[in-house]
Amino acid sequence: MISQNPVFIPGPTNMPEVLRKSCDMPTLDHRSAAFAGILHPALEGVKKVLKTTSAEVFVFPSTGTGGWETALTNTLSPGDTVLVGRNGMFSHRWIDMCERHGLDVIVLDTAWGQGLPVDRYGEVLAQDTEHRIKAVLATHNETATGVVSDIAGLRAAMDASDHPALLLVDGVSSIGSMNFEMDAWGVDIAVTGSQKGFMLPAGLAIVGVSQRALGAMATAKLPRTFFDLRDMQKGYAVNGYPYTPPVGLLNGLKLACDMLLEEGLENVFARHRRIADGVRAAVAAWGLELCAERPEWQSDTVSAVRTPEGFDAGEIVTHAAEVYDMAFGVGMGEVAGKVFRIGHLGMLTEAQALCGLATVEMCMVDLGLDIQLGSGVAAAQGVYRHGTRQQAMAA
Ligand code: PLP
Repeated sequence: MISQNPVFIPGPTNMPEVLRKSCDMPTLDHRSAAFAGILHPALEGVKKVLKTTSAEVFVFPSTGTGGWETALTNTLSPGDTVLVGRNGMFSHRWIDMCERHGLDVIVLDTAWGQGLPVDRYGEVLAQDTEHRIKAVLATHNETATGVVSDIAGLRAAMDASDHPALLLVDGVSSIGSMNFEMDAWGVDIAVTGSQKGFMLPAGLAIVGVSQRALGAMATAKLPRTFFDLRDMQKGYAVNGYPYTPPVGLLNGLKLACDMLLEEGLENVFARHRRIADGVRAAVAAWGLELCAERPEWQSDTVSAVRTPEGFDAGEIVTHAAEVYDMAFGVGMGEVAGKVFRIGHLGMLTEAQALCGLATVEMCMVDLGLDIQLGSGVAAAQGVYRHGTRQQAMAA
């Protein structure tokens, strides 16, 4: 039986019914004007969500991982040096992809629970006077630890050393739910997927590419076929794809952008901030700690909650699934068994968040943790309450 409860994994997220249905379309000719009427508004919508006017957007039938590969293979050549911070499982996997592509990777290892080390990036770039480093890679929101990093600060560090490297950013679990400013932050490639902030099924790699990064395509020698942006550009010029596009998902993407823009991006971000504040209040009321060590590193899309020493955090996730039919995220890599994750990205309301908090609270009590039933829920209610109707209207 498929659960009727909302999910609290950090992606794929819950889907608004209207979006889910928008992906379910009759077949249409993907070389027709009707398809152009889906494709171009979807690409334009993504540009607005990325806050860019100058970049080009490309959407592949793939996932975020395909977006990573698109970013690397279209801008770099075998043996090129890249500078990457690692502070969790996803930044680790992107590093692994760089290595498998024969890149020379300088890794800035950072404690899992801390933001990427902008100062250390800056120091390494300043020392690289010969400009051997061709690209700087950063994961904006490390989904494994619930840690957000300072991409604007990273751009400032790059500018301070006047370094020409491209800035490639993984925004898979931030874009569409947390502020992301492609142009203002000077991001050369922004990567995301359909199943997070865009609230769709998995199946699309969504990539914003700056004019500078597009310029790098001509000299980039890493092998690429499926993810070759040049083929995609030719396809888009005649309203199509170099292969068969997932028309339904693209239709969903068009509507997802409309929905985000209609709600207003800043309102979407504020909603996620508020939901996350409630989750953080609950965690504090339980007497537990977040994996994110400092408030400025706390993600508004996923909270990784540390459980007491000697307690397997994965038990909470298993118990929630088996007993209450609700999905939470397990810890990954270095923090496996030490944290469980509450995903609060994409489509989520405060009332739904309360349902997840109430359930996870029952799980922890069932499993013998010293937690007061209702404490976390009450703390979150304190954040979510809007007061009287008059107060809510006036707010
Ligand atoms: N980067 C981050 C930050 C992620 O959270 C994920 C997936 O959760 C990925 C990359 C990989 O994306 P996908 O699973 O869509 O390939």
